[in-house]
Amino acid sequence: MAIQKEKTPMRSQSPEERIKNFDEVPFGYNKEEALREAERCLQCPKSPCVDGCPVQVPIPQFIKALRDGSVEEANEIIKSKNNLPAICGRVCPQESQCEKVCVMGNKKEPVAIGRLERYVADTMLEREKNISADTAEKNKGAADMALEVKKEKKRKVAVIGSGPAGLTAAADLAKEGFAVTIFEALHETGGVLRYGIPEFRLPKKILDQEVDYIKGLGVEIRVNHLVGKSVTIDELFADGYEAIFIGTGAGLPRFMNIPGENLNGVYSANEFLTRVNLMKAYKFPEYKTPVKVGEKVAVVGAGNVAMDAARTAKRLGSEEVVIVYRRSEKEMPARDEEIEHAKEEGIIFKLLNNPVRLYGKNGRVARMECVKMRLGEEDASGRRRPIPIEGSNWIMDVDTVIVAIGQTPNPLLPKNTPNLATESWGGIIVDEKMATSRKGVFAGGDIVTGAATVIEAMGAGKKAAQSIKEYLEKEK
Ligand code: FAD
Ligand code: SF4
Ligand code: SF4
Repeated sequence: MAIQKEKTPMRSQSPEERIKNFDEVPFGYNKEEALREAERCLQCPKSPCVDGCPVQVPIPQFIKALRDGSVEEANEIIKSKNNLPAICGRVCPQESQCEKVCVMGNKKEPVAIGRLERYVADTMLEREKNISADTAEKNKGAADMALEVKKEKKRKVAVIGSGPAGLTAAADLAKEGFAVTIFEALHETGGVLRYGIPEFRLPKKILDQEVDYIKGLGVEIRVNHLVGKSVTIDELFADGYEAIFIGTGAGLPRFMNIPGENLNGVYSANEFLTRVNLMKAYKFPEYKTPVKVGEKVAVVGAGNVAMDAARTAKRLGSEEVVIVYRRSEKEMPARDEEIEHAKEEGIIFKLLNNPVRLYGKNGRVARMECVKMRLGEEDASGRRRPIPIEGSNWIMDVDTVIVAIGQTPNPLLPKNTPNLATESWGGIIVDEKMATSRKGVFAGGDIVTGAATVIEAMGAGKKAAQSIKEYLEKEK
């Protein structure tokens, strides 16, 4: 039988329907669709797709298990490398990772690896959910007791931050038999997965289930603990933690530094999305949204964060949402799928434009002045440099501006930790083992690389967990 040329399509909400709600956009594969897609995999002996995955998921093996009818085995194979598959299947930039190097992609569309991973993970999460609450409660009691007994004898490791880097490091260390405690500054777990990525891309219930899996491995999570303020790294060592992993992310928003940026109605994307996601504005009218979006919203930037902010503003009822970006479509850093979805939802793209000034009316932003740009030579980032076109300034009416031009590491913890070496831009410096300048302290994720991706943060958490294990074995 000839191999299907295109990926098996994934059913999703229509654009007209989905801009009125915060439900997830794509529905995921059903069994028949998943099997049809799995059949497209060539089971290549060299499997370049595995090298394309930052955590090296054994892709052909899990697809084969799925094809052979065992979702459980497929799930085990994925989980041997990836603790959060339902999340990665949804938000990984597959097109620039595993799927980019898939052999099928040479002549046809690559195998939809992310969609298959999502299918396996969702099927298993659904099955686990169906275990009766009674049985789960009984098992939990027994597991808690066993955990308490075991924990007394285990060596203690602290993980700071519950984003994908921290969750992955914690899970891997718990699997290795360490007593792991995560300290999280916010009142909820998940980092950007919870307060950044909106419900319509990553339902919170999926994140909750993945976090439950990690708790089930024996990881203790203490929320509302701002390390560097409520407790220091030195105090954690004094409390018996023998190694520490820092995965505090890059949560400090960058601003444009243009006149008018402090007017009312100007948000950082971080603040805007946090208010919506953490304060549940997406559940309107059940929850009263504390975020005010106007009729005409401009979102500055073109990464995933910008797409999320624009699509969220649309769902909160804005009439016109415009993405303003200083380069062209080719340079936009957002995932292809997100750009596609944003366009389908009626988001307007004003490319090759850069804001230079904001004007207010009665203290609230009312107009935005932009200058048109052209592209010059490639800069250090490998993208063509945007150059302002003299005399091309123009003005657009706006009542809300959301700035999504990047984030930098939160400085609190590095600032309050003596002898922790950092880069000039705030990132923590690590060696090839993810070890920092402080003995027994390791770091990974956005706090080291600057804003990157979920799977890269997970890869760093994984690598650090392995190094912590080796370090503790030596320190016995
Ligand atoms: P984070 O996820 O930022 O987690 C850090 C955690 O540490 C947070 O919970 C924070 O509260 C906590 N913390 C900070 N300081 C302290 C402290 N002092 N004490 C205790 N806890 C602390 N990537 C993708 O791959 N695909 C996408 O589609 C995608 N979309 C994105 C959309 C948005 C809106 C944003 C903001 C990012 C997106 N990213 C995406 C990037 C991705 O989410 C991040 O690269 C990833 O979450 C980084 O993981 P992390 O664990 O390093 O940090
Ligand atoms: Fe691809 Fe991400 Fe899964 Fe790796 S974790 S196989 S990059 S979808
Ligand atoms: Fe299958 Fe593509 Fe990997 Fe080959 S490269 S094993 S076709 S997923």
